[in-house]
Amino acid sequence: MSQKNRQHLLGFAKTNPLALSSIDRSRPAISLISEHGDPAAEIGKEAAGGQNVYVRQVGEALAALGYQVDMFTRKANPYDPEIVQHSPCCRTIRLVAGPQAYVSRDEMMPYMPEFVQALLRFQTKHSMTYKAIHTHYWMSGWVGMQLRQHYPVKLVHTYHSLGAVKYLSVPEVPEVASQRLAIEKDILESYDCVVATSPQEQDDLRQLVSKVGNTQVIPCGTDVDNFQIMSKPVSRQTLNIDPQDKVILYVGRFDQRKGIDTLVRAVGQIYAQCDDASLDLERLRLVIVGGSDPNQSDGQERLRIEELVAELGITEQTDFVGMVGHDRLPLYYSAADVCVVPSHYEPFGLVAIEAMACGTPVVASAVGGLNFTVVDEETGILVPAQDVDGFAQAIERILVDRLWAQKARKKSAQRVLTYFSWSGVAQQLSDLYRELLAEPELLQTAALPTKVVNFRVS
Ligand code: UDP
Repeated sequence: MSQKNRQHLLGFAKTNPLALSSIDRSRPAISLISEHGDPAAEIGKEAAGGQNVYVRQVGEALAALGYQVDMFTRKANPYDPEIVQHSPCCRTIRLVAGPQAYVSRDEMMPYMPEFVQALLRFQTKHSMTYKAIHTHYWMSGWVGMQLRQHYPVKLVHTYHSLGAVKYLSVPEVPEVASQRLAIEKDILESYDCVVATSPQEQDDLRQLVSKVGNTQVIPCGTDVDNFQIMSKPVSRQTLNIDPQDKVILYVGRFDQRKGIDTLVRAVGQIYAQCDDASLDLERLRLVIVGGSDPNQSDGQERLRIEELVAELGITEQTDFVGMVGHDRLPLYYSAADVCVVPSHYEPFGLVAIEAMACGTPVVASAVGGLNFTVVDEETGILVPAQDVDGFAQAIERILVDRLWAQKARKKSAQRVLTYFSWSGVAQQLSDLYRELLAEPELLQTAALPTKVVNFRVS
């Protein structure tokens, strides 16, 4: 190691004692860029959801496969450390770009040139060169295109949310829309590969964005060691839920796009109108898991949902649990009779596969990735988005038909194990990077615990 490099590392180690041991320069270094989805953040609040989970899990799984993984995000809090070491060769690096405060996604683009400069400075300071960069969300995609003007690098992109689809389902299109749509098109046409997380997203890209550019389907995943079938009575006992209750679960952010109001109306309808004698309506329980901040838009959405719950007369039946970490979430999925994902638009939808991994049937909107993960009538029921009657009927059916729910339990868990483990997803991403880099194999490979299923379409 050169004297200069050693000084860099020693200086770095002063602020982060783990850092010196954290960089393995014999490994191929790759970077994941996720401008708003901080991989080290608490999950379940307004700005932290599936993208944060995806980047963190994929980053750690890629490090286990033999890469040095640096994950870059925007620093949104002055008290957050600059570097968070997750595992020996995987770390989150927070770059100062704009105010060290929450900035909504629709207002973040002006800070991206500063983000590019901060990233370049970090690379120079720590002598890091990345062979491949995998960007997440359109603004990071733009960052990737800027970095390629400074050095040669293979670029891979995952959209997580596609403006062209999202804007079809929102009442008001934000100011940034035209810029976002143009950049999303540039990314598809100029990147080495775009990873679609479902065949549905791949179709959307072709129909709504551009016919030009390389795409490959590699799904999102879940931690199958954490989310797995466990005893419902034990989960209920731990969470203090009565064994006789009929538990309908929602997990996710408070965001209008999530369609929580559709679920609440459907439960209100079952409560007011269901005449199936086998369903004791006094036992109905709606459990809503997810964090919110009164000063941000998720706080307003939660207020709107609470008012609706009160208006429909189901306050007694409804619990707002707040944010729950992945360590305790399996208990909620396992305690539930049905998990509902009523999104207006869902590019993939991690919650559905987490519930399925725990053997809980899912009622979901027939949109985006949910059409891919949930097998209608086998692992759950798909319903048109915002169709209150449809959601009410599907939830009721699952609550009443125990035999069907029992069959769905096994099929759901099996489907996740076969197709959606993080290790399998990371292996497919690694194959893609290696193909792009024309590298036959990694210097160090770890054993892969689960089956790898290739979704390559082209
Ligand atoms: N989540 C969580 N705690 C909560 C609420 C949500 O850990 O209180 C997690 C959830 O388990 C999932 C992610 O947040 O891993 C949400 O991802 P999804 O793709 O379903 O939705 P997104 O937030 O990306 O729209």
